Amino acid sequence: MSACATPTRLSPTAIAHTLTLAGPEADSDELPTYVTCELDPHDTAQNHAAHLVFLPDDTEGKAVWLLWNGKRALTQLKGPRLECDQGDAEEICTLYVDHPHGHAWRSTRNY
Ligand SMILES: [Zn+2]
Ligand SMILES: [Zn+2]
Repeated sequence: MSACATPTRLSPTAIAHTLTLAGPEADSDELPTYVTCELDPHDTAQNHAAHLVFLPDDTEGKAVWLLWNGKRALTQLKGPRLECDQGDAEEICTLYVDHPHGHAWRSTRNY
């Protein structure tokens, strides 16, 4: 499966919001400068989405995601998609809880 992969640069505002959401333990050095959309290819009305950073000390897998569309961008705290159907127990969907489109399977198997 190929992703949308539209790139964007993290703005200073988005970085500030991300660090606010992630809390004082978050390390700004861990934030990416550029991200690419991790969703399946989609139409232009749909926001792009990219994972930014996991919450430090959070055991539920919550993470800050960047959603953007053109020049509009927002950061949101999102849980993992635990209820995604797993076709194979060794595959996990790495997208957030209410993600649209197809799953982003990351197989842990070595081919
Ligand atoms: Zn996209
Ligand atoms: Zn999924």
